[in-house]
Amino acid sequence: MTPTINELIEKIIANNPNADVDLVWLAYEFAEKAHAEAKRFSGENYIYHPLRTAMTLAEMKLPIPLIIAGLLHDVPEDTDYTINDIKKNFGKDIANMVAGITKLGKIKYRGVERYVENLRKMFIAMAADLRVIVIKFADRLDNLNTLDVHPPHKQTRIAKESLEIYAPIANRLGMGELKGQLEDAAFPYVYPKEYEWVRELVSDTLETKQKHLKGVIRSTKQELKKHKIDYISVHGRTKHMYSLYKKLIRYDKDISRIYDLVAIRIIVKNIADCYTVLGIIHNKFKPIKGRIKDYIAQPKPNGYKSLHTTAFCPDFKEIIEFQARTEEMHWEAEFGIAAHWHYDEEGSVQPDKHLEWVKELANIQKEIATKEKFLESLETLKIDLFQNRIFVFTPKGDVIDLPEEATPIDFAYYVHTDIGNKCSGVKINDEIASLDTKLNNGDVVEIIIDKKRKNPSSDWLKFAKTRHARNKIKNTIKTNRLK
Ligand code: MN
Repeated sequence: MTPTINELIEKIIANNPNADVDLVWLAYEFAEKAHAEAKRFSGENYIYHPLRTAMTLAEMKLPIPLIIAGLLHDVPEDTDYTINDIKKNFGKDIANMVAGITKLGKIKYRGVERYVENLRKMFIAMAADLRVIVIKFADRLDNLNTLDVHPPHKQTRIAKESLEIYAPIANRLGMGELKGQLEDAAFPYVYPKEYEWVRELVSDTLETKQKHLKGVIRSTKQELKKHKIDYISVHGRTKHMYSLYKKLIRYDKDISRIYDLVAIRIIVKNIADCYTVLGIIHNKFKPIKGRIKDYIAQPKPNGYKSLHTTAFCPDFKEIIEFQARTEEMHWEAEFGIAAHWHYDEEGSVQPDKHLEWVKELANIQKEIATKEKFLESLETLKIDLFQNRIFVFTPKGDVIDLPEEATPIDFAYYVHTDIGNKCSGVKINDEIASLDTKLNNGDVVEIIIDKKRKNPSSDWLKFAKTRHARNKIKNTIKTNRLK
């Protein structure tokens, strides 16, 4: 569905009644004129694509400069107008964003080459200005949604790239909603058979579940009112198809073992209410053992916060997941790093310094000056950035964020290079373990050091997972050999 410019403006004003929308109008007129002669592959007027892209950004309540850059994003690439024309009319900041998007678009390689080059450009663009990536996501989402007019080889390429590069990055930036939308739009093109299988598998289950969900929502609301909890909303959400598919694979394709096919989200006013809600639910429905997760006290590495619990609702003979969160947490869970940008209407948005990962990005970017270098480090990079993360603890209770399958060696080097180099053993949850043990979420890890030790063991490279640890091991061995 293509919005009109009026609908876009209405959306912006609905989100921010004081918004100055004059420049949005001008940008629309500018883009429409620039693309006037052009049709998209489907035969529709070209301007519809930037309009839908801008609408996606407006729905995320993003600042006006991003929405304008969304409207203008294909102008330099596809029309006679240049970045300079954009700069003259809309200023340097918007022109820079559009230039960033244009650069990302120009990738001529094929196959692995293309993949690597694409990933490298994404990292460089991200380190420079994260807003560019978010606009690119919105652009890509519309390309995916209008993919059916293209020949099959092009469909597969674009969809695969979205699944392998765009969605994981969106995930790492905490943009759950966008990640889900990108994946679901790409899924049928990349894995058509699997997509059909999941669709058929859930069609019956889902219908019954959604009917039951309505009932559970009703009785949850009553229960909250009874306990005088002034909730903001109680609503259902259905799991995205692709993430369901991946979960099914992990659960022997047994859909009866997947409890969060549908879930109930309870949005409340403050953190204390989140915990009260959890108590109310456990009092009303029987919680399932081992399914209570406190992501408020221990957020996920991408910043996700919520309380989760799964409970049995006897009236409907249904096991349902409940998620309690504040409005701010909800916003962050859906839009991640971009959730904070709408507070900052004026200034340009710098990468969020609080995100360890974003800091890391700037360093990686420096190291991957050449494509060869990048290819070399690609495997460990993918592990560092795209895998799911685990939390482990130091004996003092500090939380350390590592990729899945990380070992005590990764932990040791994360804490300090010296701890890594002098590592001679490890206690995991108070028990001696070997250094190649894969760490699990929640493990308490204590590194035993040998003060006399000078060199790390090159054997560690066989099981060290993170780029950081691997680099430190290699470098220390190299420098000590030269001494
Ligand atoms: Mn585009």
